[in-house]
Amino acid sequence: MSVGKLFLNLLFPPRCPFCREILREFTPQKGAFPSWAKEKSIPKVLCRKCAEELPWLQKSCPRCACGLSEGKACFCRRYEYAFDSCCALGRYTGKMRETLHSLKYHNKRWLSEPLGKLLSWKLASLSWISSVDAVVPVPLAPQRRTVRGYNQAALLARVVGRELCVPVVDILERVRETESQTVLSREKRWENLQGAFRCQKEWEGGGHLLLVDDVLTTGATAHEAARALKAGAAQRVSVAVLAR
Ligand SMILES: [Zn+2]
Ligand SMILES: [Zn+2]
Repeated sequence: MSVGKLFLNLLFPPRCPFCREILREFTPQKGAFPSWAKEKSIPKVLCRKCAEELPWLQKSCPRCACGLSEGKACFCRRYEYAFDSCCALGRYTGKMRETLHSLKYHNKRWLSEPLGKLLSWKLASLSWISSVDAVVPVPLAPQRRTVRGYNQAALLARVVGRELCVPVVDILERVRETESQTVLSREKRWENLQGAFRCQKEWEGGGHLLLVDDVLTTGATAHEAARALKAGAAQRVSVAVLAR
C-alpha cells in the first residue's frame, strides 16, 4: 500500500457498504459464503455480520438470474429476452435493497466501489466472462441524470471494467424520456420501454457485450437495452446486476 493510500485509510477507514461499520479483519467460517467468494478478499469489503446475513443469490437461472429451487425450470422460458445470460449478486430484499436505494437516491456514490468489486468477483467465476469484450452501462434518462447528477450504473460499470480488465464503452443512449418504471404495472413496464434505447455507433471491438445495471426486476430495461445493442453490432449480450 502506498503512503498516500495508508494515510487516506487512517483518515477515512474503509466501511462496510451495508451497515457502515469500520471494517476489521476476520477469518470467514468455511462454507459461510457463496462458492465464488475469495475468502481472503471478502473481509476487505464487508463486515462479518453483513457477509453472513446478505441475501446472496446462490442457485439461479443462468439466463435471467432468477432464484431457482432444485430441479425446477425457470419461468423465463416464456419470455423472449434479447439478452443471453444474466448474473446477479443477491436478491432485491433486506440490506441489499436498502443499500441499492442509498446508491441510487441518496448520493452515496462511494458504495459503487465495494459493490462493484463484489459483483466483479462473482462474474469472474462464470465460464462466459472470458469472452466479454466490453462493459456497457445502462444509461439514465437525461432528465433523471440531471436531477441525480450521476448514473449509478455507470459508476458500477467503471468498477467492473477495471476489475475485469475490459474497456467500458458508453455506446447506449436513451432515445426518449420514459415514465419511471417503479410506478408502473408489470405489463406497462414493457410497453413503456419499447424503443427507448439506441446504440450510438456500431461497436467494432468484438461481439460479446456486458450490460451493467443496479437491479433487474421484470427484465424489461435489460431486454430493450440488449435489443438496441444487438441492433448495433453485438452478437451476444450478457447482463450483470447487483440485485434480482
Ligand atoms: Zn456490515
Ligand atoms: Zn430464468
